[in-house]
Amino acid sequence: MVVKVDLSHLPLNLKSTILSNQEFSSLPRDDRNGQNADVVVLEVPQEIKETIIKTIEKILSLSNVEGYSVVENMIDESEIAVLKSGDIEELGIFICAHCGAPFQNREQMMIHQRMHYIF
Ligand SMILES: [Zn+2]
Repeated sequence: MVVKVDLSHLPLNLKSTILSNQEFSSLPRDDRNGQNADVVVLEVPQEIKETIIKTIEKILSLSNVEGYSVVENMIDESEIAVLKSGDIEELGIFICAHCGAPFQNREQMMIHQRMHYIF
């Protein structure tokens, strides 16, 4: 299985921070598209996807970068993308401000968000 990590929405310096991170670069990569491709193809089991998301989130917070989220592609389950918060809605993805869960439309997100107000 592969997990594709779309870094094309990131500025170059942030992209290289992620690519050069030891934990991230230790993952087995398929470099057929070249070392600096915008979409990094990792040859890992699908279950590792959550771990990869956590790893990238950790790298982002260690770099003191704010305003970026790691989201899963709704259509292609093997793909995750690092997006700037402002770009996310343009791509038709809505992120819950409370827990970061992604939704395909505002309606779904609103329904989900009600859950956070129960307690
Ligand atoms: Zn939520």
